[in-house]
Amino acid sequence: MTPTTDDDVNNTGKVDPITNGVGNVHLSKQRRKSLHPADERSARDPRDEAVTPSTSRNTSTAPQQQLPAVDFDGLSWPSTGTRARLDDTPEESAARVKKIADAVQTILECVGEDPSREGLLDTPERYAKAMMFFTKGYEENLRDIVNGAIFHEDHDELVIVKDIEIFSLCEHHLVPFTGKMHIGYIPSRRVIGLSKLARIADMFARRLQVQERLTKQVALALEQVLEPRGVAVVVESSHLCMVMRGVQKTSSMTVTSCMRGCMRSPNAKTREEFLKLVRG
Ligand SMILES: [Zn+2]
Repeated sequence: MTPTTDDDVNNTGKVDPITNGVGNVHLSKQRRKSLHPADERSARDPRDEAVTPSTSRNTSTAPQQQLPAVDFDGLSWPSTGTRARLDDTPEESAARVKKIADAVQTILECVGEDPSREGLLDTPERYAKAMMFFTKGYEENLRDIVNGAIFHEDHDELVIVKDIEIFSLCEHHLVPFTGKMHIGYIPSRRVIGLSKLARIADMFARRLQVQERLTKQVALALEQVLEPRGVAVVVESSHLCMVMRGVQKTSSMTVTSCMRGCMRSPNAKTREEFLKLVRG
């Protein structure tokens, strides 16, 4: 594998100079039907400006930059609580749901509701179970997903799967962002079953995410699993945390991309081919 760094493009095909503090994935924003620069606004609400700690914490130590995608137990960049969740006994799992439900009870009280009224009686537990489902990607294992689905083929042309639906939760507001992921790669003897690309996208989407990291994790995971000549991942999605607060028009999308290997070169024909096909 050729060591490379990330690169990305916005939908005009130019390198986007805006960095966002998560490695080298860049962020670009597209408002549908309008590409005029004056229409571009920050993809982050200024109210959400990150506080950069002056001391030890450093974005360069993000897990995906330290660890391989398939670590010793295949969990792929687990967080500190991931292992514990996975190892829960049925009793511990029930206690976990109860703990979330208690917190939701508190939220209901704090927003000025009456948690004892009929419509809300079961909401805490219902929400707790839904939240565990929305984050089920913490329990999935990349090794299990790709197991038995990697084949040796001489195919060396671009493989693309477009329009993979993604449902994720913004880690800043715990509200959904949803959209589509497009994945392309140029194999180097190894190909993967096409349905597995959607499974991998789903595994990383169903964790607490920022769109930039989701994009990058899928690209890095494929790079490590397939050792392809190049890989490209583009995600376009709508963030409810922005849309609902009126920061964005509902039709606007946030577009992120991560290009690796031979897809990185701005002059690469395959990169152009990929971008043309996903935009088409
Ligand atoms: Zn958010």
